[in-house]
Amino acid sequence: MSIYGYLNCHDCRQTLWLGKALRRDCRPFAFHIGGPELSPHWARPQLNQVVWKFLADHTGHRIDVRLEDQMTDAEHACQEIGGDRDEDISFESYLAGWPGLTVGGDSPAAEPDVAGDRGPQSS
Ligand SMILES: [Zn+2]
Repeated sequence: MSIYGYLNCHDCRQTLWLGKALRRDCRPFAFHIGGPELSPHWARPQLNQVVWKFLADHTGHRIDVRLEDQMTDAEHACQEIGGDRDEDISFESYLAGWPGLTVGGDSPAAEPDVAGDRGPQSS
């Protein structure tokens, strides 16, 4: 039986469905959406972007990761990023205009002031 995981912000009432909890000794070691032929989550750029934006957006808020049996009905009713209900928001809309997409040396639109903070020193 599949058990699903959720990343939640209880202050904003927003959630991200993490997919199936892959478990070893009853503890999740990863989450996976889709069949075994699909890439792991860490290799999916859009999903990675959503997670990192979520962490930034909810800094200082009460966030946690829960399995579905730990979720209340009220938490299931939160706005879901990537969900398909009217109150939900698509990944595309969630990431639209996010300045985090322009940070870093691999981004063609990188902002030098931000991207260079941890880079190698040239002097
Ligand atoms: Zn929040």
